[in-house]
Amino acid sequence: AKTFRKYLIAGNWKMNKTGSEGSDLINEINIALGKQTDVGVAVCPPFTALESCAKALEDSNVQLGAQNMHPKSEGAYTGEVSPVMLRDLFCTFVVLGHSERREYFKESDAFINEKVLAALDSSLKPILCVGETLEQREANETFAVVKEQLVGGLKGVTADAADNLVIAYEPVWAIGTGKTATPEMAQEVHKMIRDELSSLLGAGAAAKIRILYGGSMKPENASSLMDQPDIDGGLIGGAALKAKSFVELVEIAS
Ligand code: PGA
Repeated sequence: AKTFRKYLIAGNWKMNKTGSEGSDLINEINIALGKQTDVGVAVCPPFTALESCAKALEDSNVQLGAQNMHPKSEGAYTGEVSPVMLRDLFCTFVVLGHSERREYFKESDAFINEKVLAALDSSLKPILCVGETLEQREANETFAVVKEQLVGGLKGVTADAADNLVIAYEPVWAIGTGKTATPEMAQEVHKMIRDELSSLLGAGAAAKIRILYGGSMKPENASSLMDQPDIDGGLIGGAALKAKSFVELVEIAS
């Protein structure tokens, strides 16, 4: 772990696993990890698997997260799920602004910002995802894009949220493609993110906030990424769907 920050390994299951498949996977993870507390560990199943996963996690140090939510607590929003509902299912975290939501569901920074504020208000810890596309990287827009997503997503967030806020840097071109950012490329952006957090929330808050890397992180590349000074863990897609690779990632972070 870094001096101030405990690593976090969070599994983003995306649209994978039914309720029973999810609880089976969690049972395997629980057996392998026991009661380790060196590293924060979370799994983010689809909404439909949250209840069975919450049951499987009853006696575990692994925490539960959701992959999205609506900012309002209740009302006429067909098909949506509220922060109150996620708390009721024992969620600790909620992934917000994932690039797949931005791309396929046209989520804007302003809408993501409403969700971040609603999550913090409801005692859910947002994992705010930011990251550039390949075109943006090739046009040298990486810093500008990531900065805009951060400033937009964190509008109205104050320094006292630092303990409850997680950022995930996920270069879109690295997600699910097998292409990972080199540790140096990732660190450069993570450092920029921490500097930006420092100007938004103050240096004390910025030093506490965990910044995860996401995008084809797996046991083979995780240690060189997590050795970087501003990388505090991972948001894991593909490698979180099997107990073996997910548990190995937790062990690498320990
Ligand atoms: P991946 O997904 O690990 O499969 O690249 C990461 C993510 O999208 O959170």
